[in-house]
Amino acid sequence: MNSKKKIAILGSTGSIGGNTLEVIAASDRFEVVGLACGHNLRLLRQQIQRFRPGWVSVAAREDAIRLREEFPSLSVAWGEAGLVEVASIPEADLVVSALVGARGIAPTLAAIEAKKDVALANKEVLIAAGELMTRAARARDVKLLPIDSEHSAIFQVLEKGQAVPPSLIRKITLTASGGPFLRRSYDTFSDITPDEALKHPNWLMGKRVTVDSATLMNKGFEVIEAFWLFGLPPRQIEVVIHPQSIVHGLVTFQDGNTLACLSAPDMKAPIAFALSYPERIRTEVVTLDLLKVQQLTFEAPDFKKFPLLKLAYKALEQSGVYPCILNAADEVAVAAFLDGRLSFSKLPGIVEQTLSDYDALFDATLEGILATDQWARRHAKSLINGLS
Ligand code: MG
Repeated sequence: MNSKKKIAILGSTGSIGGNTLEVIAASDRFEVVGLACGHNLRLLRQQIQRFRPGWVSVAAREDAIRLREEFPSLSVAWGEAGLVEVASIPEADLVVSALVGARGIAPTLAAIEAKKDVALANKEVLIAAGELMTRAARARDVKLLPIDSEHSAIFQVLEKGQAVPPSLIRKITLTASGGPFLRRSYDTFSDITPDEALKHPNWLMGKRVTVDSATLMNKGFEVIEAFWLFGLPPRQIEVVIHPQSIVHGLVTFQDGNTLACLSAPDMKAPIAFALSYPERIRTEVVTLDLLKVQQLTFEAPDFKKFPLLKLAYKALEQSGVYPCILNAADEVAVAAFLDGRLSFSKLPGIVEQTLSDYDALFDATLEGILATDQWARRHAKSLINGLS
């Protein structure tokens, strides 16, 4: 019997997908059975040749037809149905959910329904559909394994030893680097260019999450994800600025002890833990050298400069559909900022206005969530168009 863990990756040509494949390539414990991506055929071809999956899916039909000709023995699918197909490949043990945006929600739910454990990087899955996903995962005894460094840290602390009930936890702490504008004066925020926002001090990531890190929106999303992953109320989820990005997450227990998880800032460390869970594997992540780091510093986040973090707590308290609207409006606002159509300082206002303009009743089904996501996108776009 082949004892390798069989992995399908949704979003294989993105930043998380690429790091996941590097972790897989450096180990003999895994086999890639499926890859799904959007339009990056050049990179997908290389991945197919290197990892030999049985299934792939791409966004466009004409790309699927081309791949079928090039790789006759490969099962090639396309579009939304193709993502669901790769998410539910019968022999897969684990699905890496690393698509960007709301289109990752349906295939991730399909993976859970097919009883695959899910290594989770796609934020929308928990932010827009947290209740739906966690309920489905509990019902099918499926593990949601966080890939985000902060949640992985807290998960690793909580998984050590016997399970810890939430009642024995005082708080969890997510750290934030603070992004490139931590020390920049708020008066100059309207001059911030996309190039400046895309220069993250510690992490190499996709464009949207890099801008979200510069506004601290990303940390707000992580608070919402932590709420769903760890079952703690928002007031027990703390955010602390930690510019060195070495301590990723901490858990403080009722007995006064605090455990933390540290690593060099490299996504391959949390990815390796999610892939190998409940075991550990060897990776090429550099060894943390505290003597070189020397100083670990911590400070409170500035909610005036970074109002989106505060807004995330508010959306979480309001619950229901508000986190979904928060995410969709932010994605539209970030895209407008990157295109030069929206100033950095006006970005939070668009998100806040979209949230406060919502007045429909929330339908918690997958269709209801996707419809609200679409509404928020349209509404945020019209608000941005109204500015110019
Ligand atoms: Mg993170």
